[in-house]
Amino acid sequence: MTFHAAQLASLYLIYGLVGTAGGGLESRYRVGSLESGTLLCQAYEAYLELHAPVSISFEHTWFLLLALARRVELGVAGCDDCGGLQLRDLLAKHKQTCGNCQQGSPVPTR
Ligand SMILES: [Zn+2]
Repeated sequence: MTFHAAQLASLYLIYGLVGTAGGGLESRYRVGSLESGTLLCQAYEAYLELHAPVSISFEHTWFLLLALARRVELGVAGCDDCGGLQLRDLLAKHKQTCGNCQQGSPVPTR
């Protein structure tokens, strides 16, 4: 699930639904915009082509985009170990590695 969510975040970047700003992401999705809605559908269709069956519904894809845009609880960052893109719990106090590098429980940073 974490891997799929990170791939969706990558697709949002590729399709221009979010952009980088101030060390994080900012939403470029415009509510009510046909163009933004089309881009969200295209990003989800690309996700469908990568994974069958999918783990994340279209509705949860939308929720993920909103959560990334709020930048309160969820963000993206490079994995501390491999540098790959990962979703990051912004409230976590532990070092976070991506799904590929994760082995066992998270390692405390201090
Ligand atoms: Zn990693």
